[in-house]
Amino acid sequence: MSASEVKQALIDAARELLRRGLVEGTSGNLSARLSRDRVVLTPSSYPYERMTANDLVVTDLDGNPLEGERPPTSEKALHLACLRAHSEIGAVIHSHALYSSMFAVARQPIPCVIEEFDVYVGGEVPVADYRMTGSDELGEEVARHVGDRAAVLMANHGLLSVGRDIDEAMKVASLVERTARIVWGARALGELAPLPDSTRERFAPIYMALRRSGGQGEE
Ligand SMILES: [Zn+2]
Repeated sequence: MSASEVKQALIDAARELLRRGLVEGTSGNLSARLSRDRVVLTPSSYPYERMTANDLVVTDLDGNPLEGERPPTSEKALHLACLRAHSEIGAVIHSHALYSSMFAVARQPIPCVIEEFDVYVGGEVPVADYRMTGSDELGEEVARHVGDRAAVLMANHGLLSVGRDIDEAMKVASLVERTARIVWGARALGELAPLPDSTRERFAPIYMALRRSGGQGEE
């Protein structure tokens, strides 16, 4: 994909986050790699509906500005820490999805009780320790959890998902939010039934294999 195609995909994903109710107003933020060490990020506090490619900000992996007039998202450190730590990650989405945020506030992982969770997320979604929003410490803490997982909860805050590209990170955010809602409802009905070990053994390795190969998997 060309740089302008990546930027347009980022804007489309930002609008989809809003449409799906995974963020409110100008909350949440997105980033995607343009090359090995160039990253495009959403700007700070700017409405997604009005956002164009000219509003986006390009930095290097250390956050030095390269393009753009607007200040980058206040969670820049969070995005760059994930992209610096894991070269196979191409995009990062931070959202405030409702059910995922309920788990984040309760500081409970979202369990892997659905087969597609193993395949697309790599297992349960863990909870990163609480660190102040916008801090380098939050970035480091969150980045350490996405080495073998496509999503992590940020304690008392929200959700972060990663992918080979922005569409994959979006798909993970939606799947995690939907699963959080299913688990919440299933617990209201009774105890969760775990997946059989044989199923976990079969599906659990698929996520990292796909991530390393650059594949997107089958629907
Ligand atoms: Zn946030």
